[in-house]
Amino acid sequence: MLHIGGAFVTTLEAIAIDDHCVAHNYAPLPVVAASAEGAWITDVAGRRYLDCLAAYSAVNFGHRNPEITATAHAQLDTVTLVSRAFHSDRLAPFCATLANLCGKDMVLPMNSGAEAVESGIKVARKWGTDVKGVSAGAANIVVAHNNFHGRTTTIISFSDDETARRGFGPYTPGFRAAPFGDADAFAEAIDENTVAVLIEPIQGEAGIIVPPDDFLPRLRSLCTQRNVLLIADEIQSGLARTGKTFACEHWGVVPDVYLLGKALGGGVMPVSAVVADADVLGVLHPGEHGSTFGGNPLAAAIGSTVVEILRRGEFQRRSAELGAHLHRRLDGLIGRGVVAVRGKGLWAGVDIDSRLGTAKQVSLRLAQRGVLVKDTHGSTLRFAPPLVITADEIDWAIDQFAAVLAP
Ligand SMILES: *Cc1c(COP(=O)(O)O)cnc(C)c1O
Repeated sequence: MLHIGGAFVTTLEAIAIDDHCVAHNYAPLPVVAASAEGAWITDVAGRRYLDCLAAYSAVNFGHRNPEITATAHAQLDTVTLVSRAFHSDRLAPFCATLANLCGKDMVLPMNSGAEAVESGIKVARKWGTDVKGVSAGAANIVVAHNNFHGRTTTIISFSDDETARRGFGPYTPGFRAAPFGDADAFAEAIDENTVAVLIEPIQGEAGIIVPPDDFLPRLRSLCTQRNVLLIADEIQSGLARTGKTFACEHWGVVPDVYLLGKALGGGVMPVSAVVADADVLGVLHPGEHGSTFGGNPLAAAIGSTVVEILRRGEFQRRSAELGAHLHRRLDGLIGRGVVAVRGKGLWAGVDIDSRLGTAKQVSLRLAQRGVLVKDTHGSTLRFAPPLVITADEIDWAIDQFAAVLAP
């Protein structure tokens, strides 16, 4: 951002970036990244910003994490893509190490998060037909209200977000929704044709909504009793973001299926996966599902390094400890422009007093002070910095936030 003649001028205008050829499906903050390292992004004018979004958790281990970029560089010089028509020496070790991290038997490698969700839905329906004995085409999946699972035609079919849905019909049938946090309503929604319950353990896009403590344990026993797969979409909540490898661990719950993405690609490329035991993922046979890029050698090499990093537990610890610090500082702003703070680890949803403007307006003011956050809905900001952030940097970011909130 530049201040010219006292007026706030965005870098976009100042450097005359012409983005009219970019489809208008996003309304980004006017910050033009030119480089990034660790928790910091530098724009084309040389201004530095503390990244408190981390690409929605895709950059959990920091921008250009040296261990991950070293893996990527080395792999670029060997083999990057063969498709699944042949084996690569990277795929089987990646699937083995990721399955082991999840305590499961098998991994179905995909690319984007939405593809992992789509694949999880297909696996659940196939399991329902082949194993549970639901008649063909009759399967249903119970989801939560205010969910976010991605942007494909099927996924928006069970979204409550009218902006994401309107004009994109006809919609895929076979989904029913219950209020997030209400296990009784989920029990009610399940019938003999239910093949899966699909939930985010903590709802990200909805505003970092943490469920009541009994919710996930009750869903777990419900799914076991009713012979229904519990599918945890840990695409944003998983891989150290909340202070644990998986958010489900906060409640001692092990789902039947993990959906992973975002940070699995180490901030370098899209890498996603469906992870489950053989009695579930084993329902897929050659030709029944696939992806040209899924599990490519470059993705598998990067994913293996990500798992290695997670095995050491350093980032889970950082998120837990620094997250406690972040939440203490944010809680201190309640009544001073902040209405409520939710979340776990280095992941916080912050409701702003609406008299101070919309969350989007507050995020613009924060960007002017060098802190990048993202609004969600009208009045919620999310803080989700790369897990390499330091306590001093958190303090600085919260000081900027407090200054922006001050009347
Ligand atoms: C981001 C996200 C997705 C979709 O991932 P993409 O890589 O954008 O397709 C799905 N589920 C959750 C919980 C997410 O946060």
